[in-house]
Amino acid sequence: MDIAFKPYPFSGKQYPARVPALEHGQDARRHPVAIVGGGPVGLATALGLAKQGVASVLIEADSSVCHGSRAICISRRSLEIIERLGAVEAFLEIGLPWTGGRSFYRETEVLHFTMPQDENQKLPPMINLAQYHIEQILLDAAERHADLIDIRWQTRVTAMAQDGDGVTLQLSTPEGDYALQADWMVACDGGRSTIREEMGLQLQGASYEGRYVIVDIAMESARPTERLAYFDPPSNPGSTVLVHKQPDNIWRIDYQVRDDENVDQAVLPESVLPRVQSLLDMMGEKGPWAPIWITMYKANALTLEKYRHGRVLFAGDAAHLVPIFGVRGANSGIDDADNAAWKLAYVIKGLADERLLDSYSSERVAAAHENLSYGTKSTEFMAPPSFAFALMRTAVLSLAEQHPAVRSLINPRQSSAIAYADSPLNAPQGEAWNAGPAPGTVLPECPLTVVRDGVESLRHMTDLLGAGFTIFQFEAGDGGDTALAAVPATLVTITKRRKIDASAPYGWDHTDRLFALYGAEAGAVYLVRPDGHVAARWQAPAAATVLAAIDRVLHPQTR
Ligand SMILES: Cc1cc2nc3c(=O)[nH]c(=O)nc-3n(C[C@H](O)[C@H](O)[C@H](O)COP(=O)(O)OP(=O)(O)OC[C@H]3O[C@@H](n4cnc5c(N)ncnc54)[C@H](O)[C@@H]3O)c2cc1C
Repeated sequence: MDIAFKPYPFSGKQYPARVPALEHGQDARRHPVAIVGGGPVGLATALGLAKQGVASVLIEADSSVCHGSRAICISRRSLEIIERLGAVEAFLEIGLPWTGGRSFYRETEVLHFTMPQDENQKLPPMINLAQYHIEQILLDAAERHADLIDIRWQTRVTAMAQDGDGVTLQLSTPEGDYALQADWMVACDGGRSTIREEMGLQLQGASYEGRYVIVDIAMESARPTERLAYFDPPSNPGSTVLVHKQPDNIWRIDYQVRDDENVDQAVLPESVLPRVQSLLDMMGEKGPWAPIWITMYKANALTLEKYRHGRVLFAGDAAHLVPIFGVRGANSGIDDADNAAWKLAYVIKGLADERLLDSYSSERVAAAHENLSYGTKSTEFMAPPSFAFALMRTAVLSLAEQHPAVRSLINPRQSSAIAYADSPLNAPQGEAWNAGPAPGTVLPECPLTVVRDGVESLRHMTDLLGAGFTIFQFEAGDGGDTALAAVPATLVTITKRRKIDASAPYGWDHTDRLFALYGAEAGAVYLVRPDGHVAARWQAPAAATVLAAIDRVLHPQTR
């Protein structure tokens, strides 16, 4: 149940339905990819495919981007992906960056945490940005690719079928119904996925009994952007309350409905507004405020067992539902999109065997299990599901003020990129490495100076990733194979010192941190996938070894 008071200070444009040229009631054009759902995950998938030059048709039941209170916390890893999709400037311009938060038990601060943030980073660990902004910015980017992304608003999928060659969708619009065929489909149609239902697939996992009231309010406050958690606060005894600042002077307040409360009553303004007032009084917020939106939330920790079913890939909430307290719903969906898009594009372009898509499923299902385990821990700490959990939580909170060692148990661990440690795409490691990212890990960030035609510019490692594979060659030295330049990948040479005389562009480790961060000796080579995950690393490999590793990724059946 949603209760809307006054509008958010944002109104998405309304888009009309459009029926294409038809032949016998069917879209006259067959599409390489149909994406169902134009939420953050569908839009990110369309952008990822467009980046690889692959066209898609994006089918969205609504007439605009979402409204109401949904995702607000976007992680560094998502920002990294969004930067590659060409949309990060607006995220950083509108979003509020933050690096940590505070937890209180009753009236005492028991934890002040900070997320990993060091001088190597270019992007903040987290920004707060409402989902309508997230979708609008991605939509603006998609509209810049109108040649490759065909958006069909007010178009609902009502039925689907697939065979060995592709999918057929039945679509309903206010302008008339029609069918559409595509070679591949990505189902991004959210938690109540029609596609999942049509295919008879079930999410597996746990649903929590606890309910949370989610309130967005308008309030001007000079408070910094940080995550505030109040356990058993005087304003709302027996409950847990989270507070987040959003852009446009909007504040998100989530609080747990106590077990002895009636859920239908709890969401009514006469129950919610006095609680918000007493919370703000407790926080010392004295200015005027106004409610914008109230909704009720119930946490689920669910996933499909496989995300590839023939010609259909599932992504985002259609594939998994993660409790919001680990802020991994939209974030993990954006990661799904990044993983699926390049693989699908490589298959469509004939550069990879379609079995590469099975690794989309295995990598992202493993990631979902990791996300679910963090989300579950956060949820169980927010609202203990049993007497034993409640006892443990009270003990931790009571001890945390005096005993720093237990504080980590309260830390929500909200920001960390997931490594595909067991991915079948990782090349086996021949050499021992003391440091640096192992295959499967996301490329660690570090600044470096890029020198091109004598002109120097300050860049970061993630800036240098190409649309395809990227090879980072650390100071070729004597053992380096110059034939690496012939491998079909973006080649980036990195040196320890500035070169006196360089004919080719190179990156220079001006901070003296890069080689150590990567555990690289002269001649070391990292092979990085289009989604920024390390595929392989070697000390002084032959070009043929690197080629074989790329082949191993793209043609998994040859192993
Ligand atoms: C209160 C709240 C707070 C949250 N906070 C966070 C957070 O801080 N960080 C975070 O990462 N996540 C958060 N989430 C989760 C996040 O909102 C979701 O994970 C995210 O929206 C999933 O994106 P999606 O694109 O997969 O699905 P959705 O956003 O649900 O988009 C699905 C789209 O598919 C369309 N659609 C559905 N059925 C059809 C059909 N049959 N035909 C055509 N189109 C269809 C819908 O209209 C919709 O536009 C929060 C969620 C809630 C409710």
